[in-house]
Amino acid sequence: MLSQQWQDYLNSPYSRRRLLQQGARLSAALALGAVPGLLHGAARRLTSLPADPFTLGVASGDPTADSVVLWTRLANEVLREMGAEQDAIEIAYEISDSESFRNVLRRGVIAAPAELGHSAHAEVRGLQSDMVYYYRWQIGDVTSTTGRTKTAAAANVEIPQFRFAFASCQQYEAGFFTAYQHMAEEDFDLIVHLGDYIYERSYGQSENHVRAHEGPEIRNLADYRARYNTYKSDPDLQAAHASAPWIVTWDDHEVDNNYAADIGEDDQTPEQLLMRRAAAYQAFYEFMPIRLPVGRLGPDMPIYRRLRFGNLAEFNVLDTRQYRSDQACGDRRKPSCEEHRDSSRTLLGSAQKEWLFNGLATADATWNVLAQQIMVASLRSIGELGEELWPMDIWDGYPFERQELLDRLDQVGTPNPVVITGDIHSNWAANLQLDFDNENSKIVGSEFVGTSITSGGDGRDMTDYGAALLDNNPHVKFYNSQRGYVSVILTPELWRSDYKVLPRVTEAGAEISIRKTYVTEAGKPGVQEA
Ligand code: FE
Ligand code: CA
Repeated sequence: MLSQQWQDYLNSPYSRRRLLQQGARLSAALALGAVPGLLHGAARRLTSLPADPFTLGVASGDPTADSVVLWTRLANEVLREMGAEQDAIEIAYEISDSESFRNVLRRGVIAAPAELGHSAHAEVRGLQSDMVYYYRWQIGDVTSTTGRTKTAAAANVEIPQFRFAFASCQQYEAGFFTAYQHMAEEDFDLIVHLGDYIYERSYGQSENHVRAHEGPEIRNLADYRARYNTYKSDPDLQAAHASAPWIVTWDDHEVDNNYAADIGEDDQTPEQLLMRRAAAYQAFYEFMPIRLPVGRLGPDMPIYRRLRFGNLAEFNVLDTRQYRSDQACGDRRKPSCEEHRDSSRTLLGSAQKEWLFNGLATADATWNVLAQQIMVASLRSIGELGEELWPMDIWDGYPFERQELLDRLDQVGTPNPVVITGDIHSNWAANLQLDFDNENSKIVGSEFVGTSITSGGDGRDMTDYGAALLDNNPHVKFYNSQRGYVSVILTPELWRSDYKVLPRVTEAGAEISIRKTYVTEAGKPGVQEA
């Protein structure tokens, strides 16, 4: 029996005009927030507040050589108490080269618009490259906690070392965000999140959960906002955001499990899924430190982008959900079917694919990273009747486009391509070979798959599932199914991935340790155990 809320959603009339009108209103709100000159008279200045409005913490992201996006969001309850829920709120930020703010280098005032849930995004420009900065927000007499961020080195500057972490899949119910507590202590140059930042509904047995979501499956803007509020209230997650700039992309659970473009998991028309996508994408923008081209809010939101860190690394951040063809033969592990062998099916969509393939041909950083959601290396398994099974939700389900990508890397000679991946709640290291059916085929790149922060609960080092897949897929070298993150150190000679794991996430405060280290040497594609 569907809840009333779910029925209302299914019966909601879809109107592209309505979405466009909503988009235009939001664009106006964005312009107001982004241009301080428009502010005077438009935003309300609060002088004294009844409580701390910065309970969701601070964040920064998408650093370039001269800019970074600073983020915060004002707590609803405080604005409600002041009768300011409908107003744009004036909010100031400060930037310094020290944690003490002795020397304030920049000060600015922007608006946190009501239409964007009083989220604040300040794109600060004119900063020095390759520099650590500290920032904080102020309203009246209240100051936020301090965040640490870092700009990128200029495109062709040689940098001796770059340290980053990547993470994914943080189902709030499944465990504590202890991994983030450890990550925050490492003061990385960058943290990359590969998706499943929130989960749209509950997964797993509630008796194994350590805490609860605030409600049932989410569908509208109010729901998505409430879900992000729940996740963002976590102090360990806040600490990780405050410790370094982030690059974020989304996977499926930011909208709906296993959705493909406008096709939902169940019981939804494409029109309804697009409505839901517009709400989910807007909430994602509101809660993340990202730039958004004005006028882009709505069901279509291109977030694929490129970020560069000196001559050492370039990140191609991908979106394998918004433009993909529907999963072939069903979402799960299945034998191949006619649809699976249709060469016109896509994961990236034509525009993103062209953008990526062009970039791979001209790439000139030492390490060229594809930061994306789903495993590229084949994970074929053998069923009980000896039949081949393919996981249809990952690149195995889109074999033609995967082959195009691998061929492209080979043909244009992209320097040191490395794929970093999330989604499957386990650690893997794999060689990207031109032909996964031929052990001797050319290796064109490396793939490092990072486990979940919490999704799946405590986990184990080895599972039957992992052991069978290692057996069937000789290009795959390592598997582990505990929780944690991958810490990477890059130099001009070496990519080093440390798989950091926790013994458990169902109790807070566990120690973290390096389970295994895999490296790739520059000029020698493929993974090697260190
Ligand atoms: Fe996940
Ligand atoms: Ca996923």
